Amino acid sequence: MRLYSILSALFLLATGACGGSGSSQARAVADSASTSYTERGSFAEDLAYEYVRQQVEFGPRVPGTEAHRKCGDWLVDMLKTYGADTVLVSGTPVRAWDGTLLPVRNIFARYNSDAKDRILLVAHYDTRPWADQDPDPDKRMTPIDGANDGASGVAVLLEVAHNLSVEPARVGVDILFTDCEDYGVREGASVNDDADSWCLGTQQFAQNLPYTAADMPRYGILLDMVGGRGARFNREYFSATSAQLPTARVWDMARKLGLGDRFPMAVGGAITDDHLPLIRAGIPTADIIENASPETHSFNPTWHTHADNIDNIDPATLCAVGRVVLNVLYNEKPEQQ
Ligand SMILES: [Zn+2]
Repeated sequence: MRLYSILSALFLLATGACGGSGSSQARAVADSASTSYTERGSFAEDLAYEYVRQQVEFGPRVPGTEAHRKCGDWLVDMLKTYGADTVLVSGTPVRAWDGTLLPVRNIFARYNSDAKDRILLVAHYDTRPWADQDPDPDKRMTPIDGANDGASGVAVLLEVAHNLSVEPARVGVDILFTDCEDYGVREGASVNDDADSWCLGTQQFAQNLPYTAADMPRYGILLDMVGGRGARFNREYFSATSAQLPTARVWDMARKLGLGDRFPMAVGGAITDDHLPLIRAGIPTADIIENASPETHSFNPTWHTHADNIDNIDPATLCAVGRVVLNVLYNEKPEQQ
């Protein structure tokens, strides 16, 4: 019953597509080549923002905590509510770099599960246990809200799921909310920052892929830190070099939607993130991640600090990313039935 009332409130908030541009399903958008593209889907930025707020309200989603468990349960409920054919929760406990035994719960939802031709969408829902980049040294050992780093990608994918429940894509779509992404070695710890200390949930997922050769996803798209104010998304290095197909799909679609300024073609930093274990496992996966902040020339300045909170989330950024991802999905035609 709690879920129903939460959802009722959410639906009332859904006043239409982003930026107050109305509720029309199709908007003609002029691209740089002056050809018109008819946009599909109706991404509600107020709902996406609300999904961020709700995750933050659970408290920091540090693996092994009550807040984390409750958030995971909520995500399973939301995916079922938004029409997923199946929702699988999987994972076995894993030892983190500092010796902590972390329960892993990857959450995996399938849409159009019979389709052999599939696209995988990914975001991590755990949050960093430490604010090790915080300017105040006294606050560096306490966990962050992770409104951008964690909740934002999940929120966009929940609104994508909502759209898929209204208008299915022609291909199969899988949504993976990964766990234990952000438990990597703490800055200043007397341990080498091994890349393998990050993305623990995805490493496990990649070792036990829920696919056969016949239905391996054609590609994946990862969303991480997609809610920062004025965020711009350069093409992340490993995406541009090892996942050309989804990278082309995303950055081309951004242009068709008139969002080229947010998605510059420049290649950004090389980032250890959930796309790497997937690429290695044979699923070329592009990472949409803010990596061209004018302030830092890298991540959003709130990264791994206590400023990563709801006050620094911009619904317009969530919306831009959501529109791109939705339209990539809706434009994909099955290569095989
Ligand atoms: Zn992080």
